[in-house]
Amino acid sequence: MELITILNRCHRFKGFVYQHARFSPDKKSIEVLVRPRKGSTAVCSRCHQTAPGYDQLAERRFEFIPLWGFFVFLLYAMRRVDCRHCSVVVVEEVPWGDGKHQLTNAYMLFLARWARRLSWKETAETFRTSWDKVCDAVEQVVTFGLEHRTLGQIDAIGVDEIQYAKGHKYLTLVYQIDLGVTRLLWVGKERTIESFQGFFTTIGEEVTSRIVFVCSDMWEPYLKVIREKCAEALHILDRFHIVAKMNKALDEVRAGESRRMASEGRAPLLKKSRWLLLKREENLKTEQRFRLRDLLRYNLRTVRAYLLKEAFQQLWDYNSPAWAAKFLDEWCRQTMRSRIEPMKKIARSLRQHRELILNYFRAQKLLSSGVVEGLNNKSKVTMRKSYGFRTFRILELALYHSLGKLPEPESTHDFF
Ligand SMILES: [Zn+2]
Repeated sequence: MELITILNRCHRFKGFVYQHARFSPDKKSIEVLVRPRKGSTAVCSRCHQTAPGYDQLAERRFEFIPLWGFFVFLLYAMRRVDCRHCSVVVVEEVPWGDGKHQLTNAYMLFLARWARRLSWKETAETFRTSWDKVCDAVEQVVTFGLEHRTLGQIDAIGVDEIQYAKGHKYLTLVYQIDLGVTRLLWVGKERTIESFQGFFTTIGEEVTSRIVFVCSDMWEPYLKVIREKCAEALHILDRFHIVAKMNKALDEVRAGESRRMASEGRAPLLKKSRWLLLKREENLKTEQRFRLRDLLRYNLRTVRAYLLKEAFQQLWDYNSPAWAAKFLDEWCRQTMRSRIEPMKKIARSLRQHRELILNYFRAQKLLSSGVVEGLNNKSKVTMRKSYGFRTFRILELALYHSLGKLPEPESTHDFF
């Protein structure tokens, strides 16, 4: 079987023929000569209509998917057309690629798909290409996806921030968290009012007006934009963020007390207790559980803070907003008397956002709080993979590519 036969099977285009395949002089590449089919007319790359030929440019190399350790190039001399619609001489349109990129569409999609599984660096190494080409491939696929995606009806969104570099560099991420459809909708620079407003500008008023639930953390700029843009929607403070905040407060208490005990020369009771206290008890190993039990016998601020945190978990078991409210108020009252400042700070914040927390119960827990957390974790994994440069643009592409569930350009064959 010849290479041309295979190409005609998986990468055939009306109006063009594969003429001949050969090795390059250094034997590292396979070069496939392409020419227009006799009698076929060229297509204008501006208006996409056939147009009379004008002249022919020098031969160009389009990189195709490598085969058995050989690079593969399609060699083609592009024609220029004298287009009557556009009244201009312009280069023709070719179906396997475009005038600006060296990669064929097929290879671009191939690299981009691998770049979802491997890091971009690994993708480049695996296919012996450059990081820049992988980046270029992802950029084209993502650009296509964003232009062709359908927003449709969006019932629920979740907004979250994620730190991507030192010095408080944050991204704002907006997810669709409908039952059945979860995807990343938007990536914004910073976590300001302006950046979050950018999301609503992108999706437009029509889609915005139909949002029923909004899930967020307690970050004030987000709260403000939600009040402004989604006044009709039920705004829910995400359970995951509240738990995370509480863990942070507990950790602060533990670290402070541990330092104080050390400076006073007391026994290091809290040494290596961090994960014992932060993990849910049911996730501890038997040995850890014993150590925790042991620790809880001491009258420490950390222990009291821990018990408050554990008691708080009960909130999520309520079904009725009224009972949940009663529990929440009582918990806050107790905590305010605890004289443990980080915990009191949490209680004050919970009181301040009481209604938004209770909305979780008013929404009848329809939104599983795990959704935003899960997406947030996936985003972090995506960011952790090495992308060469941690610039906003690169991260934005990587995130849309991994989590946006974007439509892909059409392909003549499933190469991967
Ligand atoms: Zn034209």
